[in-house]
Amino acid sequence: MKFETLAIHAGRGPDAATGAVREPLHLSTTFERGADGAYPRGYEYSRSGNPNRTSLEQAIAALEHGKDAIAFASGSAAALAVFALATPGGRIVCASDCYHGTARQLRNIVPRWGVGVEFVDVTDLTEVAQAMSAKTSLLWFETPSNPLLRVADISALVDLAHDRGALVGVDNTFASPVLQQPLALGADFVMHSTTKYLGGHSDVLGGIVVTRDAGAERAALREYQATAGSVPSPFDCWLLLRSLPTLPLRVRAQAANALAVARFLHADRRVEKVHYAGLPDHPGHEIALRQMTGGFGGVLSAEVPGGREPALAVAAKTQLFTRATSLGGTESLIEHRQSVEGPHSRTPPGLLRMSIGLEHVDDLIADLDQALSA
Ligand SMILES: *Cc1c(COP(=O)(O)O)cnc(C)c1O
Repeated sequence: MKFETLAIHAGRGPDAATGAVREPLHLSTTFERGADGAYPRGYEYSRSGNPNRTSLEQAIAALEHGKDAIAFASGSAAALAVFALATPGGRIVCASDCYHGTARQLRNIVPRWGVGVEFVDVTDLTEVAQAMSAKTSLLWFETPSNPLLRVADISALVDLAHDRGALVGVDNTFASPVLQQPLALGADFVMHSTTKYLGGHSDVLGGIVVTRDAGAERAALREYQATAGSVPSPFDCWLLLRSLPTLPLRVRAQAANALAVARFLHADRRVEKVHYAGLPDHPGHEIALRQMTGGFGGVLSAEVPGGREPALAVAAKTQLFTRATSLGGTESLIEHRQSVEGPHSRTPPGLLRMSIGLEHVDDLIADLDQALSA
């Protein structure tokens, strides 16, 4: 089945008990046992399983072409679940250009488990190869990355990691399964902050890990989900399911808008640099053309000359763009990125990250044009 059809039907169907076309919200925390003490309907307690969560997991597993999907209360909880597969004495290699919260987990939490962490430039395959040792169990990266929109070669990194016996996890939040499917390129795990494009309306926090195989890691993640307990609520799952049917339409329209905004900014002399994989002079453009389909995503970054103060002044003058963090919603957002990332930030001080929404692109460009003339 094609993506658009899966986005509407996978994991869903009319409610067996009532015929309701949309799945009811199942708030019950506990489920009846059979006379023999078993759980004949498959549910016992909502930390270990809930019908709304099952539907969501089946739907997203289908969209990423994975064997299973394990949902969490946030993208951060989902990433940490994969890191928790590591054993003491092991090592994780992570892209240096990654979401700042992921880097914080790998600097502040994971080493306390006796797991070593190394950050590398994943666009440099030699550097990655040198960092991978026999103890490395996981290579983790994002593409396009946050906030520099750098592109990592998924197939090449998978080959390199698998040669050395390590698994590969890709944070696919920025591309969404509409534009990029890392499991089909050999990755072992895909992770999403479903807070972003999958939710798509800036009103639900969530995360999910999709596994390529049904093997030991899948079982370990399932066990971790029920035991660690950072699970999404039934309503969170219901909201996410509500959002999936429009995912392909939203993401492709946001990517088309973002490309038009990137081209406008790229041609404008008041802008120093534009980071967007859809621009032909982006260093990752060729790889992005190979591994993404239907667009390059809805997020881009632009640097204005003069650093922090001029960048803050441009963000202060926008009227349609809201000054806020996060991405993937229907409304456009702009953010001075260095000031939210904290002391370890490697982001240039003049960089503004934009999440392009579904407004008419002419209005978005007009807003940036007037803000830049500050
Ligand atoms: C937002 C984000 C996360 C963290 O997800 P939360 O849902 O905020 O916990 C991880 N990776 C990327 C790329 C993100 O944009």
